[in-house]
Amino acid sequence: MAGKVWLVGAGPGDPGLLTLKGARALAECDVLVYDYLASAAIVDLAPPDARKIYVGKRAGASTLTQTEITALIVELGKQGKNVVRLKGGDVFVFARGGEEAQALRAAGVAFEIVPGITSAIAAPAYAGIPITYRGHNTSFSISTGHENPQKGESTLDFAKLANPAQTVVFLMAMGNLAGIVDELRKHGMPGDKPVAIVREGTKPTQETLVATLDTIVAEVERTHFAAPAVVVIGDVVKERDSMRWFDRGALFGKRVLVTRPAAQAGDFTARMWELGAEPILAPAIAIDPPDDESAARAAVARVREYAWVVFTSANGVRAFFDRLSEAGRDVRAFGDVKIAAIGPKTGKALATRGIRVDFMPAEFVGEAVADGLLERTNEGDRVLLFRAQEGRDVVPDALRAAGRFCDDVAAYATRPVNDPEYRVKVGYADVVTFTSASTVHGLLANVPDAVNALRGKLVACIGPVTAAAAREAGITVNVVADEFTADGLVHALEAAVPV
Ligand code: SAH
Repeated sequence: MAGKVWLVGAGPGDPGLLTLKGARALAECDVLVYDYLASAAIVDLAPPDARKIYVGKRAGASTLTQTEITALIVELGKQGKNVVRLKGGDVFVFARGGEEAQALRAAGVAFEIVPGITSAIAAPAYAGIPITYRGHNTSFSISTGHENPQKGESTLDFAKLANPAQTVVFLMAMGNLAGIVDELRKHGMPGDKPVAIVREGTKPTQETLVATLDTIVAEVERTHFAAPAVVVIGDVVKERDSMRWFDRGALFGKRVLVTRPAAQAGDFTARMWELGAEPILAPAIAIDPPDDESAARAAVARVREYAWVVFTSANGVRAFFDRLSEAGRDVRAFGDVKIAAIGPKTGKALATRGIRVDFMPAEFVGEAVADGLLERTNEGDRVLLFRAQEGRDVVPDALRAAGRFCDDVAAYATRPVNDPEYRVKVGYADVVTFTSASTVHGLLANVPDAVNALRGKLVACIGPVTAAAAREAGITVNVVADEFTADGLVHALEAAVPV
C-alpha cells in the first residue's frame, strides 16, 4: 500500500490554533516527525501507538540535518506509512516545506499540504497588534532577518521595507536586529516609528517589548529580550494599547496543576490554554475496576427492580454501560426506571447514550441529591447508587434513615497514581486544582509533605467536600468554586488569581 505524507503547520504555539484538518491528519498518522518544541497537547493528538520522531534542535544540538529529515520522510512514505511532518507556524513560511514537497514528488510519494497559522501574524495578534489597520497600512511584508544586511549577505530591499505605510514583520531577526534597524533608518524610515517584539507568541510565556526604531536595540539589550520572536514595525503597533487582550487575563502565564485523570482533563486543559495559562498534567488518580465487580454486575442485571438509579460521574455511566454490554444487553434494560445524575458532565454522558435524566440537583453535592431523591421516592422504594468505591455515606445514610432501600454499589475505584516526578510538577505550579477528594488523596500519596510543597501556591477546589478533604490534610485552600463543576472552577480561578 502506498504511503502518504502530510506537511502540517502546527501554528505558533497555542494548541488551539492547529487546524481541524491538521488535527485529523495527526489522529490518523502512523508516524509523526516533528522539529520544533511542539506543545505536548499537539503531539498527543497522534495515536498512542504512532511512532514519534523528534528531529529538531535540543539544547543547541541539531539531531538531523534538513537533508536527513527530507530523506527520512521520503523513506517512511515509500515504506507505505502515513506520515505527519509537523512544523511550527505555517509549512511554507521560512520552514523549508517547499523542498520537502518537491523531494516527495520526485520520489513518487503522495503528499498533502495543511497550512498553519504563521507566527508572523498570530504572535502580533496575541499581543493586540493587528497586521493591517485601516489608516495605518495598505500592505504588509514578512521577511527573514537571518541574513546580516551589513555583511552583504542580505538580498532584502530596504528601500521598499522602509516604506512608512507598510507593516514590516521580521522573523529570525534577533541576531541581526541592530543591522536591520540601521538599514531601515538609512533608507528613511522615521526614528519614532513604533516597533514591537513578541517572543513566545500565543504561549503562556508570551512577552512583548514595545519601543521605537531609535530605541528598540537598547531596549532589547536592557531587557535581555531573546528569540524566538517576531519583530513588527509600523503604526499598527500603537493599537496594542487599546487591543491588548491575551496577556491581560488573570490566568495569563500561570502554571496550573491539573490533578484529575488525564482522560477527563481535556476540556479543563483546553480552557487553561485559551486563558493563557499553562496546564501541567499531573493526574493524581487513575480510574480502575473496583476491588470486587460482582456487586456491579448483579445490580446491572436487575436494574429494573430499582425505582431510581443515581449516577454521580461520567465514569459511573461508562462502567454501567460496560457491564450492560458484557451481558449482551443495551439501554432498553432500564425500562422506565428513573435516573438521576449529579452534574452536567454526568448528564451529558447519559444523554449521549440516549437517556434523558429525570433529576439533576441544583447543587452538585450529596446532601442536595439525598433531599431531591427523598422528595421523589416513597418508603420501601429501592434506589441504586452506582458510583466510586470510595463514595461518602451521606446519600445512603439519608435514604435508609427515611425507609428507602439503598444499594450503594462500587462501579469503579479511584486509586492514587505512583508518579516519581509528582513533586517536581507540584514545585513548578503556581496554581493547584483539586476536582475531588480523591485527587487530594492521590496528591498526598505522591507528595507526603504536601503542606510544605503547596505553601505559597494558590489552591483551588471544585467544591466544599473537596475543600474539606484538603483542609483535613492541613492544606490551605484559597478558592472554592460556587458551581461544583470544572467550568465553575475556571470561573472561580479567574476571579481569584493573581496568586
Ligand atoms: N514557519 C514558521 C516560521 C519558522 S522560522 C511560522 O510560520 O511561524 C522560525 C522563526 O519564527 C523564529 O525565529 C521566530 O522569529 C518565529 N516564531 C515562530 N514561533 C514563534 C512564536 N511562538 N513567537 C514568536 N516568534 C515565533
